Amino acid sequence: MASSPGTSRGARMFVVHQHDATRMHWDLRLEIDGVLCSWAVPKEPSMDPDDKRLAVKVENHPLEYVHFEAVIPEGNYGAGPMIAWDRGLFRPLIDPAQGLLDGEIKFELYGYKLRGAFTLVHTGRGKRGRQSGRGSDHWLLIKKRDEPAEAYLAAGQPLPGTSVLSGLTIDELAAGGPRHRRWIAELEALGELAPARAIAPGSFEPMLCHTAEAPFSSDDWLFELKYDGFRMIAFGGAGAATLRYRSGQDPTHRYPEVTSAVRALPIPGLVLDGEIVILDGEGKPDFTRLAERAQLHKTSEVQRAAMAAPVTYVVFDLLGAAGRDLRGLPLYARKELLRRILPGLGPLRFGDHIEGRGEALLEQVVARGLEGVVGKRKAAPYRG
Ligand code: MN
Repeated sequence: MASSPGTSRGARMFVVHQHDATRMHWDLRLEIDGVLCSWAVPKEPSMDPDDKRLAVKVENHPLEYVHFEAVIPEGNYGAGPMIAWDRGLFRPLIDPAQGLLDGEIKFELYGYKLRGAFTLVHTGRGKRGRQSGRGSDHWLLIKKRDEPAEAYLAAGQPLPGTSVLSGLTIDELAAGGPRHRRWIAELEALGELAPARAIAPGSFEPMLCHTAEAPFSSDDWLFELKYDGFRMIAFGGAGAATLRYRSGQDPTHRYPEVTSAVRALPIPGLVLDGEIVILDGEGKPDFTRLAERAQLHKTSEVQRAAMAAPVTYVVFDLLGAAGRDLRGLPLYARKELLRRILPGLGPLRFGDHIEGRGEALLEQVVARGLEGVVGKRKAAPYRG
């Protein structure tokens, strides 16, 4: 994700839930006065300034709802599946509480899909002006012309329909993750290659690398970018999440953007190995900002920073899943399994690699000012 303007201080949160209740709609929720003020948008929110979307003001939700993704059970209000379609930083350009009264709110969003300036304008009886909100709940959501809008139009691609937490579509969530269930069945078919054995935090050391004398290429190796961040092991999935630094320290409560995504993955017993980074506008890790972020410990500061300066967890290995120990599998097999379950966008990202051509990758890396390249034997088991 590109850099998010604004610091953690004063930063606010937004989430857009796609919600298949009586009718499909998208709930836009903006943090105003300590709650999530919500509008139900019957058509998918757009990055095209020509699309004006009806947005019907609905009831407020508590701030914790930014992490919500689940099927709301039958018999409850709003019963049906709800995915976190987008979320991130909400930056009002005027006092939004006043804007609610005046019938116009100008703001910027920095999520994984919606980016740049938007306006919510009250319509209907009473039109604009103080107390205009009475008599009608109808507003319009309009994208303003700006660089993110131009970039969206130039790319000519629709916004992805998947959750930024789990990578599931709303239909997949409703169906209990059929793609992921097939994936688990394939794991079970591996039998003793992936023995039934849980991997507990603290029971192993993360696998480390050594500095090579010189760059090289080899068909027996694959090469990944070296990220300038913090090594992190994540345990969980299917409603659970625990994080560990390499030192064994527990930073679980410091990265709610990561834990909410790990919890949303519909596979229990995941053990993920990777590096957390904060990416700048060019996609380069910014270690200084990450080090600042890692110092935060007050819950309110952490929650806001998770939206204003979200970390990306670049996952490059899969050690366990669904009660199976995968460490004996060759690295390339673990990575192919991993690639299939990580979301296409959001705080979790697959740590991609190229095969064989280590020197070529290193040349590109140096040219882009990145940190380096890590070579790994394709056939290697995981040895901590
Ligand atoms: Mn709804």
